[in-house]
Parts: sequence; structure tokens; C-alpha cells
Amino acid sequence: MSVTTISHWINNKVFPGSSSNTAPVTNPATGETTKQVSLASVEDARAVIDSAAAAFPGWRDTSLTKRVEVLFRFRELLNERKAELAEIITSEHGKVVSDALGEVTRGQEVVEFACGIPHLLQGGYTENASTKIDAHSAHQPLGPVAIISPFNFPAMVPMWFFPLAIAAGNTVVLKPSEKDPSASLWIAELWKEAGLPDGVFNVLQGDKVAVDELLTHRSIKAVSFVGSTPIAQYVYSTGTAAGKRVQALGGAKNHAIVLPDADLDLAADAMVNAGFGSAGERCMAISACVAVGPIADTLVEKIAERTRTIKTGDGTKNSDMGPLVTKVHRDKVKSYVDAGEADGATIVVDGRDVNPDGGADGFWLGPTLIDNVTTGMSVYRDEIFGPVLSVVRVNSYDEALDLINDNPYGNGTAIFTNDGGAARRFQNEVEVGMVGINVPIPVPMAYFSFGGWKNSLFGDTHAHGKEGIHFFTRTKAITTRWLDPSHGGLNLGFPQNA
Ligand code: NAD
Repeated sequence: MSVTTISHWINNKVFPGSSSNTAPVTNPATGETTKQVSLASVEDARAVIDSAAAAFPGWRDTSLTKRVEVLFRFRELLNERKAELAEIITSEHGKVVSDALGEVTRGQEVVEFACGIPHLLQGGYTENASTKIDAHSAHQPLGPVAIISPFNFPAMVPMWFFPLAIAAGNTVVLKPSEKDPSASLWIAELWKEAGLPDGVFNVLQGDKVAVDELLTHRSIKAVSFVGSTPIAQYVYSTGTAAGKRVQALGGAKNHAIVLPDADLDLAADAMVNAGFGSAGERCMAISACVAVGPIADTLVEKIAERTRTIKTGDGTKNSDMGPLVTKVHRDKVKSYVDAGEADGATIVVDGRDVNPDGGADGFWLGPTLIDNVTTGMSVYRDEIFGPVLSVVRVNSYDEALDLINDNPYGNGTAIFTNDGGAARRFQNEVEVGMVGINVPIPVPMAYFSFGGWKNSLFGDTHAHGKEGIHFFTRTKAITTRWLDPSHGGLNLGFPQNA
């Protein structure tokens, strides 16, 4: 039986490319291969990059009024039709449809922020900086830029970047994850319908071959990458060595501290929502709950009660949590549960025994709660990226803080407490980029910037918000005079104000 091939997109149409390499795309709830995705050759990658390069001069010179018209239309179309996109995401990623809709809505916020681009791009102007000389600054686009995205948010993560990149006058090559590539083409069709000119938004499907070409091709001026830490490090070092501006967001190990004075019912709700939402395949998922002092037994009981009520199943049905993205990934996550058990941790709720509401060959693992986890265990040390919540017991706030600050990752964290002083101390002392005070998944709004510290981000610029505008533009300072008799005479000295 022949399966549909998901290909590239250039000049506002599908581009099949010349490579015959493909990868299977599966429905995680059934285990079936439903499609295949093209894996670009170097020639294919160059054709897509050329499309973005050819469109750049025209798009750069398109007025802000016209650019914003297109952005508004894109926002309206997305808002009307986002349910279609959510279903596509569920069919390839596995997350439940309501969660997929949530990701699209968070991405849409960045489109809405980008609609304010005339204000965001405004430069400064100073009259008479020197006698009859004026100075101004302008924020100009970079050129063709690349966005390389992970499997876990096939719509939202690309939308952290491309609305602002396009609004600022750049052209884009999106390289989606090969695990769930269809969302990218749906988005490309929507841009076309919104009136975006040919070549401004392009899609390149593929693997390392495609990524390497994006990192080294001279036409690509900047790279926004999101994925695991080892690949983020590789992308950052290769891209910057080739002279590109790079922001590379990496992996995570997010801790939530629960202090003894916290409302334990609300904290337990939050642990379950943040630990098992999207089957733990979120870079902001809580994977380590740090229970401080005597509350640990009660907290674990409350989390366990709630965890047992979670319905695991096909995301298109009435389930709370879907399958994992691939069989390989499910087996890897499961192996961490096995390792935790072998290392002496207590398996309180065992997701390996799950009885899901979905296909027999789906990539299932139920929510798993593990207590008495210690820092030497691999279930604590490594990013697992699955529905596994570890509880680490400590005696004091200081011990909890040290645990987080000693961790190589610094993406998100949270504290649960009713003590304002403790919360304030935490937000000041913790070495993590995004902090929640009684908020378990503190993903910033579009007008703030998203990004972690330490091994969770390479580069110095976070995504969207003001930092996003900064990343996708270069600043130029312009000094102007209109010749006047007072400017006459020869003077070889260094220009000074007068
Ligand atoms: P991944 O690193 O395997 O893949 C990310 C991208 O890199 C994909 O487009 C993939 O095709 C490409 N890639 C994979 N191997 C490559 C190689 N050897 N050379 C060049 N490119 C390669 O990540 P994933 O499994 O798709 O996504 C999950 C990871 O992403 C987790 O580590 C998660 O924490 C991270 N993530 C981080 C954030 C954040 O904001 N920090 C957000 C979402 C996901």
C-alpha cells in the first residue's frame, strides 16, 4: 500500500525534491505507519534556501502596513481553523486534542504580538546631535533565517520564531521534526491563503543532512534551534563557527519545590498536571518534585491518588494523556523506570501496567510516580521526557535550592508556598530562566521572552518578546547632514560634536 509523502514547500507550493530518502511517520495511538516524510538531500536543501534568498529583497522592501495586513489575515485564519491543526498534531504526536489546541493558541499569541511590528521596529531619532547634524537608528532584517524545531510542539515552537522573523522582514526556512512533519505544511498553506508572497515562508523536511546545510550555507543569516541539549550544543558551535547568529534552546530537568506551608491539595494537582500533561513530553514539564520536610508522605499520597485517576488513551477520545511519540522513545522512557526500580527507588504508581483506551500497538506508558529518588540515580540525573514524576525528599529550603542550582539544566522551575518571603528569596536565588510561584509551568506570555539558563540554552537571546525582535534584526545608526555653509572647510581630525 502506498503512503502519502510529506515533502518540502517553496514558492508557495509543495516541492517534492530529488532525494528518495524517507522516514516513516506513525500514529502513536495505533502504532501504524500513516505517512512518510522526505529527507532532503543537500541539493534539495539548497533549492529551499535559494527560494528564501530570492524572496528576501522584495519582502524586506514591503511596507510595514502590507506586512501587518498579511499577519492579521494569518492570525484570523489560524484562529478560525486551529481545530484542524490540532487534529493533525494529535495524529502524529499523540497528545490529546485539547492539549494540541492549547499549543496552537499559545503560538497564536506570538502572531498577535508580531502584529504590533510597526511599534516594535521603531528606531530613535535625535535632531541636532551636532550642529545641523541629525542621528537616527533603524532595525533592519537579517535575510533568510532557519528555524529547526523538535517533535514535541510541532506548531507552537516554530511559532515562537517565524511570526517575528517574517514581521521584521526576514524570509524563513522551517525544518520541522521528522516525527511530526505535517503541521508545517498546513501552516505553509495558511500563509499562502493569508497572502504571504512566494518564498517568504519555506519548509525543508529532513534530518542531519538538512540541518547541516542550514548551518553552513552562506545565505542563511541566523538559526533558531530547539531540541535536546547535545544537538543544541552542536548546532550552536557549528552555526556560530560559520558566522551565523544562533539561539539554540536545549533540554531540561525541571524541579518544583513544595514547602511545608504549601496548600498540599493544590500542589498535588499542579504536580500531576505539570508532570503528566502531554505525557511529560514538554520542555517545561515538572519531572522532579522536591518535597521539603515532614509533608513528604502526605504529598506523595495526594499525588498518587490523583495520578491513579488519569485516563491514558487515544488523544482523539476522552483521555487525559496520550501515548508517547514513538516506540523507541517509549521504550527508552520505560527503561528509566526499570533503572529507578533497580536503583532502589519506590514505584508508587506504575505506568508500565497501563491499560490504555487505544490501539494494541500504540506507544503506551501510563503516568508513573517514583518516590525516594536520589541524585545519583539515572531517573533523576537524565532528561527523561516522558510521564515519569520523581519525588526527591529533602530537609530544608536550602537543600532544595542547592539541588536545583547544582543541576546542569536551567529551563523552568516552580515553588509552592504561601510564604511570600520564601517565594521572593527563591525567585532571586534560583539559577533558572523561567520561574513559577505557585505556577507549575511558567511559560512566559508572547510579549516576554522564553528561554532557559545553563545547558537549556546556548546563545544569549531568548525566544519572542523583545529578545525575539532583537534576534531577528540588526541595528544601524545613521548620521545625516544636509550640506550647509557652516559645514565647509578642511579638517582631518576625528569627527567631534560641535
Ligand atoms: P532532537 O534534538 O532529537 O531534535 C530536534 C531537531 O534537531 C529536529 O528537527 C531533528 O531533526 C534535528 N536533529 C536530530 N538529530 C540531529 C543531528 N544529529 N544533527 C542535526 N540535527 C539533528 O529533539 P526532539 O527529540 O525532537 O525534542 C525533544 C527535546 O527538545 C527535549 O530535549 C526537550 O527538552 C527539547 N525541547 C526544548 C525546549 C526549550 O524551549 N528549551 C522546547 C521544546 C523541546
